[in-house]
Amino acid sequence: MSKQTEFANKKALVLGAGISGLSVAKILKQLGADVIVSDSKPIEKFDHDFSELKAASIGLALGNQNEQLLDGIDYLVVSPGISIYIPLVAAAQSRGICVMSEVEVAYRISAAPMVAITGTNGKTTTTTLVGEMLKTTGRQVGVGGNIGASLSEQALEIKADGFIVAEISSFQLEGASRFHPRIAAILNLTPDHLDRHRSMEIYQQMKERIFITQQANDYIILNYDDEAVREMANRAPGKVVYFSRKQRLDSGFYAESGKIKAAVDGKNIEICAIDAIKIKGGHNVENALAACAICYFAGAQIEAMAEVLKNFPGVEHRIEPVAERKGVAYYNDSKATNPESSIKALEAFDGHIILIAGGRDKNTDLTEFMTIAKERVEHMILLGEAQQRFAEAAARQGIKNIHQVASFEEAVKLAYSLAQPPQVVLLSPACASYDMFDNYEQRGRVFKDLVRRLI
Ligand code: ADP
Repeated sequence: MSKQTEFANKKALVLGAGISGLSVAKILKQLGADVIVSDSKPIEKFDHDFSELKAASIGLALGNQNEQLLDGIDYLVVSPGISIYIPLVAAAQSRGICVMSEVEVAYRISAAPMVAITGTNGKTTTTTLVGEMLKTTGRQVGVGGNIGASLSEQALEIKADGFIVAEISSFQLEGASRFHPRIAAILNLTPDHLDRHRSMEIYQQMKERIFITQQANDYIILNYDDEAVREMANRAPGKVVYFSRKQRLDSGFYAESGKIKAAVDGKNIEICAIDAIKIKGGHNVENALAACAICYFAGAQIEAMAEVLKNFPGVEHRIEPVAERKGVAYYNDSKATNPESSIKALEAFDGHIILIAGGRDKNTDLTEFMTIAKERVEHMILLGEAQQRFAEAAARQGIKNIHQVASFEEAVKLAYSLAQPPQVVLLSPACASYDMFDNYEQRGRVFKDLVRRLI
């Protein structure tokens, strides 16, 4: 029996009428389910129309949600943007309705084995890198989660001898039960999203769901340098493989003497010089190590993995090289919406940075950020709502050359007029974008446009 028959002639309610919800609704419909999409937002709050749903005979219930929506429902699919702690989900659970996230749907319909990557930071970069490395095996590869097509779309398309590579957030793991990756990785675990997960303990338990259903011959790749992640090995049913940026491992993938190496299957392997990895920064060495570990067990060749590391330019808006002007390189790190992320970017360069920062203030502590900036930043150009607080924190730290500007255009022009080799110009805002933009992607694109127009 095909895995896909599970949903035929069943009744599914999809919570959330965003992109992910609509995509999974269409797939469930295609698989023979009777589907309704529900969202508490009224129709005028959406920027897409729902003609496609109507055309596919999928029901739509927008606005006030009540328990009657659950009548006759077999499956409740909860979109990643919605918490499983809402009363409607609790009501579904008490009625015995099967509650699941999109990743669980994808797992249930996928013929191909799944590779799944989670962690607080580095998921998109590592997932994309793994996708590129696995393509070198000649097998069909579908990459999804936060990137590309939805996972359930990939799951329908990729044949049994391919791979699905999934970026998984803890939100998606909330609604996972049978989901079972052949190879999984946990990159790191720092307090984040605690508002939604209530405590670090629950957050950690959620992340562990990525491996808890694994069997003895599956692989779980864990970061040895992160204590909370390292000790998850105690609860892992699969084969544990560690990676470490900080120390040589008797068994696992690690960085040593400027190289990425592995001690695996009784062999010592050198994969690539760290200098040759195109994506910058120590955090990306960790992402590269995790990707190599995953792909080794998925059957990629060492040389092919090294080739990808040398050429993979990174994901858009993450220390993304934009252009060179007058011998000065410009980088777009618009995805850095908090000081921790911007610190990673500052650490990726050997000083000489002209930093453009600021945006919507999240009132985060700036002490560490400014301490590192003092060592590495030669000019700090500040803009947006946070600029005054950032300027004061920078001045307190003894940072010189602080400039406050009113627009992105002014920031880029000023950077251009100041910059001389070996300096680099780095947009790494350490703030959200919503004071001036719809999202960080738009902010990054505006920056790139302005840079490319410089002559
Ligand atoms: P995610 O998908 O988990 O948000 P990304 O790959 O999009 O992660 O990277 C987002 C930001 O997180 C990067 O710009 C960088 O500042 C930081 N980051 C990336 N990888 C790591 C890592 N391995 N450890 C810590 N921080 C990282």
